[in-house]
Amino acid sequence: MATKLLLTFAICRLIVTVGLTLDPTELLLLGVDAQLSVDPTDVKAASLDFGLLTGAQPPLAVMHPASSQDVAQLVKAAYGSNFGFTVSARGHGHSINGQAQTANGVVVQMSGSIGGSGVASGRKPPYPRVWPQERFVDVWGGELWIDVLRSTLQHGLAPKSWTDYLYLSVGGTLSNAGISGQAFNHGPQISNVQELDVVTGKGELLTCSEEQNSEMFHAVLGGLGQFGIITRARISLEPAPQRVRWIRVLYSNFSTFTRDQEYLISLHEQPASQKFDYVEGFVIVDEGLINNWRSSFFSPHNPVKISSLEPNGGVLYCLEIAKNYHESTASTIDQEVESLLKKLNFIPASVFTTDMPYVDFLDRVHKAELKLRSKGLWEVPHPWLNLFVPKSKIADFDKGVFKGILGNKTSGPILIYPMNKNKWDHRSSAVTPDEDVFYLVALLRSALDNGEETHSLEYLTNQNRQILRFCDEAGITVKQYLPHYTTHQEWVDHFRNKWDRFYRLKMEFDPRHILASGQQIFTPTNMASWQ
Ligand code: FAD
Repeated sequence: MATKLLLTFAICRLIVTVGLTLDPTELLLLGVDAQLSVDPTDVKAASLDFGLLTGAQPPLAVMHPASSQDVAQLVKAAYGSNFGFTVSARGHGHSINGQAQTANGVVVQMSGSIGGSGVASGRKPPYPRVWPQERFVDVWGGELWIDVLRSTLQHGLAPKSWTDYLYLSVGGTLSNAGISGQAFNHGPQISNVQELDVVTGKGELLTCSEEQNSEMFHAVLGGLGQFGIITRARISLEPAPQRVRWIRVLYSNFSTFTRDQEYLISLHEQPASQKFDYVEGFVIVDEGLINNWRSSFFSPHNPVKISSLEPNGGVLYCLEIAKNYHESTASTIDQEVESLLKKLNFIPASVFTTDMPYVDFLDRVHKAELKLRSKGLWEVPHPWLNLFVPKSKIADFDKGVFKGILGNKTSGPILIYPMNKNKWDHRSSAVTPDEDVFYLVALLRSALDNGEETHSLEYLTNQNRQILRFCDEAGITVKQYLPHYTTHQEWVDHFRNKWDRFYRLKMEFDPRHILASGQQIFTPTNMASWQ
């Protein structure tokens, strides 16, 4: 009875808000009423994201699916109804610009249960399922990477390619790319997927892979949620290392820093003993940030006096590298690390080393999250800017942005690391610069309302615009990662030679533009004029 009431209320809201005569029986026939919620806690949670930039965009209802079929039924109903409504999958809601939101439709809450109701209803798919012999794992699209890791470790296995932070959903990162310091070697996460189950914008449930529905498979990877909702992903695994030697070294000269980074990623075809497993780096424009929130690495026992390292133009660069190992090979790790370090040209006194279990290394950002949460500094606006910068222009970017626009002040970590383009499958929807090597530059800012102008949301948002304008004027053809655009032309320019295919497949798989409307790439078809 209560469920029926809840559903009726949801339907009434749909009718009232859309202002159209949606036939209530369409939703009643879904057969998923137990998972459709208008509980204010659910609706509020689904209306916000990590960015906290867009203001609340409350959906009409939130669905807690218990199976792929639930998702398919909902999308099919949206597609087939006379007037329709939008459907947005939401993983863990860690987007910045409302990409997982939809104000005029239903949010499908893929990860866990938000607000305490819903998915606990018992019919959750029996995932993750590890196939130890075949070395892959099947996971639910809303599974968080931390839980994927925990399941595979029980079999001594682990995925190969990661993000820095593991409380992100599989469907959410595969809709973008999923990158971290392993990408130079294994490619992004989207290069490590063997098969997907996807609910298209017509409500069809398709299995796709290299061999089966291959156009769909490649389109969905990096496809910003435009072609379907990923309900299952089959992810490649490798034997899990047990420990990690994690090293940071400093540079005051940018070209020495990037030369060393590029050298290290050029070793990707070498045997494991002759390369690092992880290559990242970050920029230090502000002394306070050497111990930024991404990880408290430098301990009070090895304090770093930045001024003594003679930063060039006030800026230092930190190369971050890691080598995985198994306890049985612990005797050779020192030697392997040493011979790799010998080839690098960092400031001699600036080697900082730590050693930890593999899981702790992968989950390093979560510790920082807990710390920030305890200080009330996690749930603040995040005007992040993530750019892929071609190798040939990274020095211009350094001069103009790190040593120029940022003006010795940032409001969060600035990551910088190179990747090999040949590790990215050009058939995916992800967009990268046209050079063999390109850099991720991630300005991971937090805006604070503490009276300091340089910490304010307005200041940081303006600075992002200034950086993009600078790149444009300086001929630095960057591509946004986790892109955010608001006009059709900007999206066409972003996808460039991938646009025609992107558009054609959108028309094929989601012709009513029902899915992931929060990305603002396609406008949902005027429902009344559709039929
Ligand atoms: P959501 O924000 O919930 O969704 C993102 C988009 O994907 C939306 O358009 C949504 O509709 C769509 N979507 C979600 N689930 C599905 C699905 N099952 N099927 C189809 N579409 C779906 N990224 C990296 O690559 N590397 C990093 O190291 C990294 N670190 C991060 C650290 C933090 C603290 C944060 C907040 C983000 C980080 N990101 C990183 C970015 C992150 O990968 C993206 O924001 C990603 O989309 C977040 O996943 P989510 O599950 O929260 O997605």
